[in-house]
Amino acid sequence: MLELINIHKAFKNNAVLKGVNIKVKKGDVVVILGPSGSGKTTLLRCINFLERADKGEIIFDDLHVNINNASSSEISKIRKKTAFVFQNFNLFNNKTALENVTEGLIVARKVPKAEAIEIARKALSKVGLSNRENYYPSMLSGGQQQRVAIARAIAVNPDVILFDEPTSALDPELTGEVLSVMKQLAREGITMVVVTHEMSFARDVANHIVFMDGGIIIEEGPPEEIFLNPREERTKQFLSRIL
Ligand code: ADP
Repeated sequence: MLELINIHKAFKNNAVLKGVNIKVKKGDVVVILGPSGSGKTTLLRCINFLERADKGEIIFDDLHVNINNASSSEISKIRKKTAFVFQNFNLFNNKTALENVTEGLIVARKVPKAEAIEIARKALSKVGLSNRENYYPSMLSGGQQQRVAIARAIAVNPDVILFDEPTSALDPELTGEVLSVMKQLAREGITMVVVTHEMSFARDVANHIVFMDGGIIIEEGPPEEIFLNPREERTKQFLSRIL
């Protein structure tokens, strides 16, 4: 469904991605692991052009985009196929939970308001926040705010949801509620690419693990292979530090 080919990205003279290839099938939960600074977030942001890669190709179903000459219509098609969940939620603080979810539907996708509200209510119910639709972000816990952000992501019915360290800004007691919503989405067959340090999530929910270091993929495979029988020294070192 989604393929990244030979993605390169540098910030000034700091080469952050040095030729990354990833394939994501429909229904996959791909977890990207790796030490801090290895390029995981940048890679995720390059998928939906939050960051523009310097070189490479993105194939999304029948859309084949060469990043160097991607047109704005191609970029907007890719953006419409994806939703992004940020580390710091990125909610509008002056909008209620419901309005945060309807905003993108009404403004970017031109869904009529009444229909947008109906879709948003379903999405909020899915993340267990039906009783919070009129709350502003400041009245919600971090875990609830992130669940609103997840509702916003599922409301646009994307082909893939990109999660950038979705629990790393949360107090430990609030990570569970977010991870359990993500697990439920995975069970429903929603395709996800997740950057996380939550090893239990990676082990239990991912069907494919990608281990990155220094802007390249060192090793990838099913979780049982990567966690129990890693082949590469750098993977072994990383896992021994984190597990
Ligand atoms: P990871 O997610 O694995 O921690 P990142 O993709 O966040 O790695 O960062 C990889 C490198 O890219 C880091 O050295 C970081 O400082 C640099 N970097 C990331 N974003 C920017 C940016 N917008 N401008 C300059 N450097 C950046």
